Amino acid sequence: MSQNPRVRFAPSPTGPLHIGGVRTALYNYLFAKKNNGKFILRIEDTDQQRYVERAEEYIIDALNWCGIPFDEGPGKEGGFGPYRQSERKENYFAFAKQLIDSGNAYYAFDTEEALEKQRQEHEAKGKTFIYNWHNRNKLDNSLTLDPAEVQKRLNAGEEHVIRFKSPADETLYLEDIIRGDMEVQTSVLDDKVLFKGDGMPTYHLANIVDDHLMEITHVIRGEEWLPSLALHKLLYRAFDWEAPQFAHLPLILKPVGKGKLSKRDGEKMGFPVFPLEWKDPKSGTISSGYREDGYLPEAVVNMLAFLGWNPGTEKEIYALEELIADFELKNVHKSGAKFDPDKTKWFQQQHLQLADESVLVAGLMEILNDKKIGSSQDYVRHVVQLLKERAVFISDLWESGWYFFERPTSYNEKSAKKAWKEGTGELMSKLSEVINKTEPFNAENLTHAVKGWIQESGLGFGKVMQPFRLSLVGAMEGPDVFEIAAAIGKEKTLERIRFAIESL
Ligand code: GLU
Repeated sequence: MSQNPRVRFAPSPTGPLHIGGVRTALYNYLFAKKNNGKFILRIEDTDQQRYVERAEEYIIDALNWCGIPFDEGPGKEGGFGPYRQSERKENYFAFAKQLIDSGNAYYAFDTEEALEKQRQEHEAKGKTFIYNWHNRNKLDNSLTLDPAEVQKRLNAGEEHVIRFKSPADETLYLEDIIRGDMEVQTSVLDDKVLFKGDGMPTYHLANIVDDHLMEITHVIRGEEWLPSLALHKLLYRAFDWEAPQFAHLPLILKPVGKGKLSKRDGEKMGFPVFPLEWKDPKSGTISSGYREDGYLPEAVVNMLAFLGWNPGTEKEIYALEELIADFELKNVHKSGAKFDPDKTKWFQQQHLQLADESVLVAGLMEILNDKKIGSSQDYVRHVVQLLKERAVFISDLWESGWYFFERPTSYNEKSAKKAWKEGTGELMSKLSEVINKTEPFNAENLTHAVKGWIQESGLGFGKVMQPFRLSLVGAMEGPDVFEIAAAIGKEKTLERIRFAIESL
């Protein structure tokens, strides 16, 4: 790449960032980091009506949690700021005016009612009304009005917009890094509003102006913006600016059925569609987030990277650094990527196994603290080592291993029925004697002693081991029973057996 790329993630703060948005940010980040470039966050908040409080903060928190921070953006000046469009609003009119002066845009005074009337009349004839070359010469705008009349109306403060004057009949050749070459006939384009009656630019104008001023080299964004590509290319041409390269990312699709992944799919099937929990400031409703549901950011990032891209090898488990090394924009798929909640869990499980042990220890310590259970770091670490392999979430360490910290006070009924028979009590008393004699008390010695005793006495293995486990755990679960006994210690092991004999 001749020039160090500058890419931007340009969300509108209209609510929490959907995981599709996080994926767009991630691909921008990976591309920037791979090519020694800069990743910029620009907040596109020109639509005052759709502005949602705290959404910007949420976006920034989400990027930071994922470990993909921006190089330039709100609060991180990089010489191209400000990075909120609302703080740049004075800029935009001059650019709109420039297009008027060069004959690429025009003032339009048509009222909402007049346009509605046009729509209805067209519909009655079975046609669709498009404000473009086809009928702009019959409408109320500076192309049809006398210049003096236009000036008079502007001076009088008459409400108006500024529209782009799309070419009537031209074939546009568009390029997209992911999709390849495309052709668009300008005759089907409408004359989009660039500047609104409220004195604010529309998305199209502000987006192009800022991409230019911020020296963006590659626009990497969701497929939903592909229909705007022709207009954007025409705007660059009208300004006589060099256009960036474009890459439109595939849609993220529902796990089942057709269409885009939505918040409702998550609610229905029980998975988050947001990186972090979000409390709607108006309704107060809470939407779940991956962070609060116990996912590791590494797992979420890995999963998102694979929604629309893969390295073309068998390798699936990726750390962020490895993604940066292997990611190629041109290998991103054209077709939509089906979201798979089970696969997401699988990524989580894999990354939990790879996570630094201290993360798991700290996580389990926190759970114990919340429950007011005191325990030492070393003990918790030992428990983590015994349980980690089967855990998907840190919370599983508690859910599947609480008995390392508390005595069971009840027993799984089915297991008790199966494991505890006539004579089991006496057998457990004898086992207690064997345990009591085992010194030093560790898993290895205990295994040896108990297995030896079982063999010598000609007892069935399960006859002893099942009630032994039931006594310690309360159910037929958990890692090696000798490991459990060794971890909780001789005294507690004997106490639990005694308690089981009394209760069962
Ligand atoms: N503000 C647009 C959005 O919310 C940005 C689209 C683009 O990247 O051009 O997605």
